[in-house]
Amino acid sequence: MKIGIVGVGMVGSSAAYAMALQGIAQELVLVDYNKELAAAQAEDISHAVPFVSTTVVRAGDYADLAGAGVVIIAAGVSQKPGESRLDLLSRNAEVFRIVVSRILDVAPDVILLIASNPVDIMTDIATRISGLPPSRVIGSGTILDTARFRSLLARHLAISPQSVHGYVLGEHGDSEVLAWSCACVGSVPLMSFAKQIGKPLTDAVRAEIDDGVRRAAARIIGGKGSTYYGIGAGLARIAKAIARDQRDILSVSSVTEDIAGVSKVAASVPRVIGAGGIMMDLIPELNVEESASLHHSAAMLKALAASVPL
Ligand code: ADP
Repeated sequence: MKIGIVGVGMVGSSAAYAMALQGIAQELVLVDYNKELAAAQAEDISHAVPFVSTTVVRAGDYADLAGAGVVIIAAGVSQKPGESRLDLLSRNAEVFRIVVSRILDVAPDVILLIASNPVDIMTDIATRISGLPPSRVIGSGTILDTARFRSLLARHLAISPQSVHGYVLGEHGDSEVLAWSCACVGSVPLMSFAKQIGKPLTDAVRAEIDDGVRRAAARIIGGKGSTYYGIGAGLARIAKAIARDQRDILSVSSVTEDIAGVSKVAASVPRVIGAGGIMMDLIPELNVEESASLHHSAAMLKALAASVPL
């Protein structure tokens, strides 16, 4: 499969690097309005390929995205001093209007993978601008928050994160919901597994894990300016599920008919991802508190998305 990436700053290039190392695509086409940057990233990443895969990595223009099965959009502008969140969103919506239409001109059957933040809102905007079905406009959403949740749980329980089945739902951001009540280890409910092995998830442990997930981005930004390796690997994970039609269950964002009583909102729940994009949603069974938190998160996102003029 040919996979395109539009916007190859830190996030887009990390996704390209992760995909090149895993040989997920036959060809990766890197597009950026900074052409020198795209050329440099393509050349640098292509030098990693001989060690591990056969992916062709090159810089290109929109025309070179013709026939791409997936295009990751990681383009965006950053907040100017004094600029409101809504003004920033409007400017990013303008970027998306141009980028999405140029992609669709050459690759009408594409699946769009949205990485630009705030990712849930940008996923809603990309869906509205493109006119594509929501199954083909996928935001990275809470894929990374879910990975952080699993890795912290795994560390506490001293097992592999791949054997922890737990999800972070709703917004990729402050209002996200850690779904403790339906998390499992293998086939055993998380809380009873933790008790059985003598490592109970006390309120203090849960609070620490919650903070570890929720405040991870802020901590990383504090130390190194921005986050990109984790999200790059998460984007590669979604692209792999599509390129190989794996039908993996991943927590990603997409405009959804109903999330906790909020209609047509872009937020994350676990979904089956395969060649057609999103093939099924799996709305988890939550306790009363988690349901209320997810409703709050989804309602906030819906109101914010509705406030962005298109
Ligand atoms: P991040 O950390 O989110 O990756 P960066 O600023 O490093 O942020 O990367 C964003 C990239 O998006 C930059 O390389 C920038 O040149 C690119 N970009 C911004 N607007 C557009 C656009 N309209 N078309 C293509 N690329 C764009």
